[in-house]
Amino acid sequence: MIILKEIKKSFNKLQVLQGINLRIDRGEVVTILGPSGSGKTTLLRCLNFLEKPEKGIVQIGNIQVNAEKATKKDMLSIRKQSAMVFQHYNLFAHKTVLENVMEGLIVAKKMKKKDARNISERVLEKVGLADKLQHYPSQLSGGQQQRVGIARALALNPEVILFDEPTSALDPELVGEVLSVIKEIAREGITMVVVTHEMSFAKEVSDRVLFMDGGVIVEEGTPLEIFNAPKEDRTRRFLQRVS
Ligand code: ATP
Repeated sequence: MIILKEIKKSFNKLQVLQGINLRIDRGEVVTILGPSGSGKTTLLRCLNFLEKPEKGIVQIGNIQVNAEKATKKDMLSIRKQSAMVFQHYNLFAHKTVLENVMEGLIVAKKMKKKDARNISERVLEKVGLADKLQHYPSQLSGGQQQRVGIARALALNPEVILFDEPTSALDPELVGEVLSVIKEIAREGITMVVVTHEMSFAKEVSDRVLFMDGGVIVEEGTPLEIFNAPKEDRTRRFLQRVS
């Protein structure tokens, strides 16, 4: 379970998050939509303290942190509850696919190499990369690199996986393979928060859709509610623009 209370975040004088309240249940798949600059990525990064909110409370699983009083240790302990899949994959270029996935298990989870290898092989098989274990990122397509990113997150077995526009750096023909891997994971009941511009994906995969604008959650609901009967003008205008 994730709880956010009154999360506020500014960059210089620009207040990007205006006091976000949110509760996400275990196993829920939540997508965040909204225009560019509305604060979607910032919200995702505040969840794991890659950005430190000025104010507010973040709870993931049984770890709760008050941003105003957060120590480095608090931030690390909440970060360990989640794993993030980045827009630009963020893989280690000098490590193989297998080593990229093993790294987090060995460094963050202090796992033995053999155990880390077993888990990594299993998740890489799951994302369809069993035949690429010894390849380097530069030898892979963007879609394959992002699937390594997803495998790396899955291997950590976190409370929640945070996806930050996971397909927006990909050539259009590679988007489908990444989305279908994410859909498959979603069906397994892992809690997921996904910032995305892929409307049909959001429709298909979400339990709940949040629409953000101007640093607030303007509206939230099931995909049916948001896409077929949005209540707010801002939501309606956004959906008309992007569809
Ligand atoms: P997009 O869909 O374009 O990725 P977004 O909704 O994810 O947009 P954010 O990336 O959260 O929006 O950015 C919200 C606002 O905060 C933008 O005006 C952005 O320029 C600003 N911002 C984000 N990160 C920083 C930063 N590290 N320093 C200064 N300003 C930032």
